[in-house]
Amino acid sequence: MSKEANCIFCKIIAKEIPSKIIYEDDDLVAFEDANPQAPTHTLIIPRKHIPTLNDLHEEDTTLIGELIQKAKEIAADKGLSEDGYRLVFNCQEGAGQSVFHIHLHLLGGRTFRWPPG
Ligand code: 5GP
Ligand code: ZN
Repeated sequence: MSKEANCIFCKIIAKEIPSKIIYEDDDLVAFEDANPQAPTHTLIIPRKHIPTLNDLHEEDTTLIGELIQKAKEIAADKGLSEDGYRLVFNCQEGAGQSVFHIHLHLLGGRTFRWPPG
């Protein structure tokens, strides 16, 4: 599995830096965001180091589907299915990306506005 030496999320996956991991399997890791923007703020990431959505290849299609399926399951476990939740990928700094290892934000537990800021 590709691992980038200076990537904070690769270090979380490797447990070189601590985080509150709530799920992991051969492909994915889910952990609580250190600076939550909602009562639920979980990050779901692939073990594979992919810097941005722009770097996705055809072969990653199933992996991205797994991220979304897992987010849906975690949302259900947290009782968010009915009230709703938001899934976000930020791509590049202009869209708010600050960690360059793709991650799906699962946000829930409050009301969200549209359009986002
Ligand atoms: P982005 O801005 O790239 O879309 O999201 C990065 C997210 O990662 C932010 O919500 C930020 O709070 C979170 N984050 C950054 N560093 C760490 C860390 O070391 N541990 C955890 N748990 N979350 C982090
Ligand atoms: Zn990484």
